[in-house]
Amino acid sequence: MNNMFQNYNFTVAERFIRYARIDTQSNPQSRSFPSTEKQKQLGQFLVEELKSMNVPDALMDSFGYVYATIPSNSPRPVPVICFCAHMDTSPDCSGAHVEPIIHKSYDGGELILPDDPERPISPSEHPYLKQKIGDDIITASGTTLLGADDKAGIAVIMDMVNFFQLNPAVRHGKIRILFTPDEEIGRGVDKLDLRTLGADFGYTLDAGELGTYEDETFSADAVTIHFFGLSAHPGYAKDKLVNAIKVGASFLDSLPKDELSPESTEGRYGFVHPVRLEGTAEKLTVEFIIRDFMTSKLKGYEDFLKGKMDEALNRFPGSKAEFIVTEQYRNMKEVLDHYPQVSEFAIEAIEKAGLRLRRSSARGGTDGSKLSFMGLPCPNIFTGEMAFHGRHEYVSVQDMQKSVETIVYLAEIWELRTDD
Ligand SMILES: [Zn+2]
Repeated sequence: MNNMFQNYNFTVAERFIRYARIDTQSNPQSRSFPSTEKQKQLGQFLVEELKSMNVPDALMDSFGYVYATIPSNSPRPVPVICFCAHMDTSPDCSGAHVEPIIHKSYDGGELILPDDPERPISPSEHPYLKQKIGDDIITASGTTLLGADDKAGIAVIMDMVNFFQLNPAVRHGKIRILFTPDEEIGRGVDKLDLRTLGADFGYTLDAGELGTYEDETFSADAVTIHFFGLSAHPGYAKDKLVNAIKVGASFLDSLPKDELSPESTEGRYGFVHPVRLEGTAEKLTVEFIIRDFMTSKLKGYEDFLKGKMDEALNRFPGSKAEFIVTEQYRNMKEVLDHYPQVSEFAIEAIEKAGLRLRRSSARGGTDGSKLSFMGLPCPNIFTGEMAFHGRHEYVSVQDMQKSVETIVYLAEIWELRTDD
């Protein structure tokens, strides 16, 4: 049965620790690409490691993308599959001098972080840990994030490469490997050349809990509303001045308090969410993000906001407004539904690794949502990375190993299901 890995020495944990030590924080304020040069240090390191694993075409381009190929060893015309992970870490928490710590054979208690022993990682705040008793858990030391998001994904893919090099009898088609910069700041695929990549289907390795498969993301628009008042010298403004700040405040106050917001929704429900406010008595700008799994619902939310805006304008005669909608990204499921085998094979692989499937939807976007609409259908597979973007981030070594097994099986299934 599933004894392909019985004699395999996984390398994913050592790899992960090496990558986690390299600071790759991205920076949303930067205008360069990649947003921070230091991300290329990891890129170069990965290229060297790939070359030492007998992957001679591994390269990093000037934008920091790392591309590499494992050639097909099958006589069949198997579609080219890409496995993708991002190299950068979140700007929300320091990624400098990360000191990964392995807590061997986790006992179910609190995980003490030596540089901040007052604030351990506790299973009451992180209930997933209760399922990880006996596992080896990797954390940071207490002052930085860990960067399992998404260096766990990188380490999983690198260990898959190692596995295929050591087990040439396991059949697979051509596999393309892609490591991207700047995912955390939403630019991960901006400079990507899909023709250079040359893949038919892709999988990002960037989801959390063991067995997770995500083929849905939010659909997303941005809305900007400019409120215009009528300015006048405040000493002589009677019956003349209309204050845009008050118009905008009245509008914002009219939004519902206990529905349609991120703080009041979960699961399948969408929201409208003001994220920025700027202005003067003359002109006030409010920026919103609009989110739902059903693209068709976005229009309804936008009409709702527009209605509230018009009501506010009516309360302040003389005021005006401009309402601008910008498309951001779309639910990848709209694309994936046309390629059912992409999900079928992934689910089969997760089950073949002996795992219970955890199908979930990302209440956000991934590189995969953009890639799917660019022409590379690209759902998301678990790595074990948990509690990302903070000092309590952690990852189970055994979860990462199961992720390696899953993508090895996945490549094998694509080969098996291809007709001669
Ligand atoms: Zn990520």
